[in-house]
Amino acid sequence: MKKYDYLVVGAGLFGATFAYEAAKRGKNVKVIEKRNHIAGNIYTKEVDGIQVHQYGAHIFHTSNKEIWDYVNQFAEFNRYTNSPMANYKGHMYNLPFNMNTFSEMWGVRTPEEAIAKINEQRQEMAGKEPKNLEEQAISLIGRDIYEKLIKGYTEKQWGQKATELPAFIIRRLPVRLVYDNNYFNDTYQGIPIGGYTQIVEKMLDSDLIDVETGVDFFDRKDKYLKDYPKIVFTGMIDQFFDYQLGELQYRSLRFETEEKNIGNYQGNAVINYTDAETPYTRIIEHKHFEFGKGDKDKTIITREYPADWQRGDEPYYPINNQRNNDLYKQYAKLASEKAKNVIFGGRLGQYRYYNMDQVLHAALTAVNEEFK
Ligand SMILES: Cc1cc2nc3c(=O)[nH]c(=O)nc-3n(C[C@H](O)[C@H](O)[C@H](O)COP(=O)(O)OP(=O)(O)OC[C@H]3O[C@@H](n4cnc5c(N)ncnc54)[C@H](O)[C@@H]3O)c2cc1C
Repeated sequence: MKKYDYLVVGAGLFGATFAYEAAKRGKNVKVIEKRNHIAGNIYTKEVDGIQVHQYGAHIFHTSNKEIWDYVNQFAEFNRYTNSPMANYKGHMYNLPFNMNTFSEMWGVRTPEEAIAKINEQRQEMAGKEPKNLEEQAISLIGRDIYEKLIKGYTEKQWGQKATELPAFIIRRLPVRLVYDNNYFNDTYQGIPIGGYTQIVEKMLDSDLIDVETGVDFFDRKDKYLKDYPKIVFTGMIDQFFDYQLGELQYRSLRFETEEKNIGNYQGNAVINYTDAETPYTRIIEHKHFEFGKGDKDKTIITREYPADWQRGDEPYYPINNQRNNDLYKQYAKLASEKAKNVIFGGRLGQYRYYNMDQVLHAALTAVNEEFK
């Protein structure tokens, strides 16, 4: 067998960044990936000239100039600005909550009128300590916005009633008193022209990196541990330790993608369905991430359904509550004692909801630590 310095488990953004940086330093790297493609959850695939985000809408945004410059080495970004809409029982509202939303909701015109209305609505919870997510949201923004734009969406996302969810899930609800539908406050945002997969492709394009897809680490775990001096593991940390301390919890998602024979289905890349009756949380129309690029008479849409997670399902979101965070800490301790030649990275290895810029930052931090 060829002699490798590193085995990287998972060809997502964390694994690919580590492999790229290691190869840059002359190291030989083997990458294995259990899916039949590289790029993890940022994988995009061209259909009808449209870049389809196979694992949900991905918008790159960051305020970290170094990370922005870093990612721009691998792709050119367009000027896409995330401005989702909400559809509540057929009525359309702008997100995030801003003057357009308040104007549509209450007919107010000025920031002063909007504040007065929000304060009047918040009175319902005056002097009371919020005991659950519903009460917390009403205490922050009032009942109208809560019922039309938060309740149904959040209950679908978590699979639980808002009155049963803890208040801490919503710490703050940013209210924008300007007519600006830009969702993110970050300095930089955009979508890579030609999709995300090229970023990982370019990272892994080196004579020093060998990639094998369709290979699950757990099929030959002991052999890998024996054969490789160092492993970067971006799968589930609890699975790595055979769930010996207990199971971490996740939320899953189901995507339903459909090709439509019309040029423009919904007029926006992302529309959230905020009522409780519609079973999906949002519909993505992929071509709008690139301003209508692709086939003029066709469009691709994806409905996103939140789902409970069980072993074997795709673990999209860690559930970072007290119980799970404590358990993760125990796994991290076990890792530092029993798996000294393994670097655990990424959203599953570090059990953290990471945006892409945070994953890049975490991977570059691991690289600096490894090669200092
Ligand atoms: C629906 C959704 C929307 C998102 N939207 C945004 C957004 O708009 N902006 C943003 O910045 N971020 C967004 N993110 C987050 C973004 O997807 C992550 O930051 C990023 O993909 C994490 O990279 P990673 O390498 O840590 O994990 P992953 O991309 O999950 O890569 C890990 C890889 O390891 C593989 N693997 C796991 N176990 C094994 C095994 N046993 N053997 C072999 N391979 C294995 C997996 O198949 C996977 O390919 C979103 C995430 C989701 C789920």
